[in-house]
Amino acid sequence: NSGMRVTPSPFQGHFCITLADQHQWGGAFKSGTSNSPCGPHPARPLHNDLLLRPSEVKAKLRFAALGIALLYLHLHGVFGESSYLQRALEYVSRSLSLKPARWVTLPVWRRGARGLHAAAPERGEGRGSLPDDCCTARAGFLYSLVFINQQFRPGEDPHPICDAALASGESLAKRNRTQDQSPLMYEWYQEQYVGAAHGLAGIYYFLMQPGFVAGQDRVQSLVKPSVDFVCQLKFPSGNYPPCVGDERDLLVHWCHGSPGVIYMLLQAYKVFGVKQYLEDALQSGEVLWQRGLLKKGYGLCHGAAGNAYGFLALYKVTREARHLYRACMFADWCMNYGKHGCRTPDTPFSLFEGMAGTIYFLADLLQPMRSKFPAFEV
Ligand SMILES: [Zn+2]
Repeated sequence: NSGMRVTPSPFQGHFCITLADQHQWGGAFKSGTSNSPCGPHPARPLHNDLLLRPSEVKAKLRFAALGIALLYLHLHGVFGESSYLQRALEYVSRSLSLKPARWVTLPVWRRGARGLHAAAPERGEGRGSLPDDCCTARAGFLYSLVFINQQFRPGEDPHPICDAALASGESLAKRNRTQDQSPLMYEWYQEQYVGAAHGLAGIYYFLMQPGFVAGQDRVQSLVKPSVDFVCQLKFPSGNYPPCVGDERDLLVHWCHGSPGVIYMLLQAYKVFGVKQYLEDALQSGEVLWQRGLLKKGYGLCHGAAGNAYGFLALYKVTREARHLYRACMFADWCMNYGKHGCRTPDTPFSLFEGMAGTIYFLADLLQPMRSKFPAFEV
């Protein structure tokens, strides 16, 4: 699970995407022509690649179809072309014909597919004996509720899911006798993961969303001290461990390390107004800049595009151009997709590991203030 890394080259001043260029750049994406001073939109050749390999996409369809549908829904939102919406519906239809997953996971979630098809989940699902993390369980389910509320009709109530997540976290903290350090605790496969995908930071990011937990007093008394517990796990470098008790400062991914913890820190800053959270988030941004280009590839979960979303998160809060610049530099890296000797992901076209996620990120750069890490940021 360790990845080789390279350090980004310092600012050379050659990367020319400005906010003013973005409109032209967007046109270059749609037409496939180079009518922008930046050349064609870098996502365009990648998108062509995705279109030209339907059989390979099909081979991984079971995992990739819903994520690719989300990509096309996003492209429709950014560019307004109905053909993207049509393609999204095609992928959803294919995924609905697949067998349901054993757990409620977002990437392979049939009910999520029905959500894209405008049907809401039944109330209360997700209250049973599920894990709590973002990728496979309750926190991911919460995102799906948000998605349905945003896309279709407000009214799906997150309180029962949050109540279950809080009860589960309190129970484990008491069982482990760690409630004095952290009132909440969560495990995945008997490990106390820290990062956004399977761990504490991803769960707390959702539990701090306005209106998710019923009663601000519980956010103060349970969630805030648990967030503080994660904060004190920070390495001297500013990075965070993959698991509680793991002393190896190795992984800088959205799934493990500061690129995922940054969302928890920024949300804590918004909710509690404590400057230290913002300072820790800014330090995470420095870790990202120093160590965030990954030989693991260009994807979202453990790749350059996913790490670049951390810069966009910082940009949205601080409005400081340097964070947007850094995101653009990572986009520059992604433009040379496949030319750095990076490992091919297990699911090379999927949203979370593969090409669909990279395209999603490159399209999001056209609207940085509205950008959101897909299937995660609320
Ligand atoms: Zn990952």
